[in-house]
Amino acid sequence: MSEQNLFDMVKRHLCSCSTDIAMDENIEAVLKMPRREIHVSIPVRMDTGTIRAFQGFRVQYNDALGPTKGGIRFHPDETIDTIRGLAALMTWKCSLHNLPLGGAKGGIICNPKELSIHELERLSRAYVQAMYPFLGPDRDIPAPDVYTNPGIMAWMVDEYSKIAGKTTFGSFTGKPVALGGSEGRLDATARGGWYVIREAARDLGLELSGSKVAIQGFGNVGSFAAMLGQEVFGARIVAVSDSHGGIYNPDGLPVRDLVTHKSENGTVVHFPGATHITNDELLELPADILIPAALENVINQSNAPRIRARIVAEFANGPVDNDADEILFSREIQVLPDFLANGGGVIASYYEMVQNFNMDHWEEEKVHRKLERKMTDAYRAVHTLALQNHVPLRRAAYTIAVSRVVNAMKMRGWV
Ligand code: GLU
Repeated sequence: MSEQNLFDMVKRHLCSCSTDIAMDENIEAVLKMPRREIHVSIPVRMDTGTIRAFQGFRVQYNDALGPTKGGIRFHPDETIDTIRGLAALMTWKCSLHNLPLGGAKGGIICNPKELSIHELERLSRAYVQAMYPFLGPDRDIPAPDVYTNPGIMAWMVDEYSKIAGKTTFGSFTGKPVALGGSEGRLDATARGGWYVIREAARDLGLELSGSKVAIQGFGNVGSFAAMLGQEVFGARIVAVSDSHGGIYNPDGLPVRDLVTHKSENGTVVHFPGATHITNDELLELPADILIPAALENVINQSNAPRIRARIVAEFANGPVDNDADEILFSREIQVLPDFLANGGGVIASYYEMVQNFNMDHWEEEKVHRKLERKMTDAYRAVHTLALQNHVPLRRAAYTIAVSRVVNAMKMRGWV
């Protein structure tokens, strides 16, 4: 079975919601294309003295609702179509959560695990140099994503500020707190996702306390999903994995010890007292809640019939492909779609921008409180519409998000 192209998947979802909002086919055609794409070649001097050219992208998908926003990924298998699909998803994400922002995504084809810290810094700064004319607080504001982090944002905001000749903290988000970052940003994607799971579990009559949870991915989102799930939401984390493989214990894993194990060994694998499993096996475990928090397309038509969870919460972008979506819907497994469930990151990013513009610094409780409200409101709106139209949550989420973008385009006179 061939892997579905993420951009095609997103376009197919867009088509399916077009009847719900009576969208004109010409408008649909406009929404199926990014407004701007920037492709750059980035020469970087490696530690050995040789020069290596890296390929970088930034796709600014749609800015009808405001300046574009979205992460930068560093991944060896990056493709322009994945970035296009992810940039479109950012557009729907910001719209669904009622943020005054459009959507974008960027990436560099590289394997950060094979780069030294100095090479990584030079590459990060060079990306900003190449993209500078197209970035900025009122143009396009990047953030961390797959294999990028607050330290990389610190280099990038510093590079941007140097070129601008002034400190411009609002040009990047997900920065360290000591450098204009926001309290509560680091775990915001996972925390926001759990607020959505909590609401969905309530609607399904599933008790969160003691519920069994399997999490694929143990990066920023996956590790916080495990910690918050256990410590704040009372769930039992029975399985986790990373790119090396996974571990399983039906009685539950001690998550804090696991975080220490990962930082000491570079992987969760070989954690004492747990059974070794593969990433594929993790997805099919007997769990109440499955959280794919790694990469796209991991649940597809070949494994969807064997998923046993009642809730699949997409903390990653695009982990369930279109075929799997239909299979899971027919099996009455509730899929919490990515741009609903993982919107917490960009919501906290937006709060970070607001603080930067006002030279302010909010307490963590304030960020949590506002985040909880936003995530809960979005879930309620999507769930209500899904029930009303007898459609999956994803289609209802598309209907709300896309219609707001279309209205903004109409008001601006673009269509
Ligand atoms: N990379 C995150 C996402 O996919 C956050 C984006 C942002 O904060 O701009 O939603």
